[in-house]
Amino acid sequence: MIRKAQFVVSNTDPTKCPKPDRAEIAFIGRSNVGKSSLINMLTGVKELAKTSQKPGKTQLVNHFMIDDRWYLVDLPGYGFAKVSKDRKEKWEQMISEYLTSRENLCGVFVLIDSRLEPQTIDLEFLNWCGEEDVPFVVAFTKADKQSKSQTDKNVRAFLNKLEDIFGDIPDYFVTSAEKHAGKDQVLSFISELVSE
Ligand code: GDP
Repeated sequence: MIRKAQFVVSNTDPTKCPKPDRAEIAFIGRSNVGKSSLINMLTGVKELAKTSQKPGKTQLVNHFMIDDRWYLVDLPGYGFAKVSKDRKEKWEQMISEYLTSRENLCGVFVLIDSRLEPQTIDLEFLNWCGEEDVPFVVAFTKADKQSKSQTDKNVRAFLNKLEDIFGDIPDYFVTSAEKHAGKDQVLSFISELVSE
């Protein structure tokens, strides 16, 4: 359980992140994947991460301090159709700089919408993470949106793709912010990561 979650800072420049004096866990995914909802579920703070931020807004790296012990980082989403090429390039530059240079980063949750068939943009992003040695895990979101068998089918299809890419299946979680599913599993996994 998380007892305390406080906003620390937002910025567009990864070099201005807080001093790397604590373990850090980041969350990223396609716009609308359910990232804010998942962060709010995990921390137990409604609206800690704002749900459904509009794509026109400045894209920020948001740091939160959790239990005075670790940083939770909300990264800007990718894959919004309406985003200009220029903004996309800025996103790529900022995110790749953050993910490859942040020395205290010990885990990145890449969120995948469990309603969808495997999406190229997600697979490409995960492939890039693998190439760059970014320590990622996968969290499927919105598992309550369809039957359990449909969720299982979509999750399996995605994992099969990952197995094709990586030769094995990375750690993954199936979650629902609506039903609070997967919360304990994700939090105990994070707890282990940040105490290493
Ligand atoms: P973000 O853009 O990735 O931060 O996504 P949001 O958290 O804002 O969620 C996008 C939309 O999906 C919102 O309308 C949420 O209410 C909805 N949503 C997010 N997670 C869940 C979930 O687990 N179950 C259901 N049923 N809806 C969800």
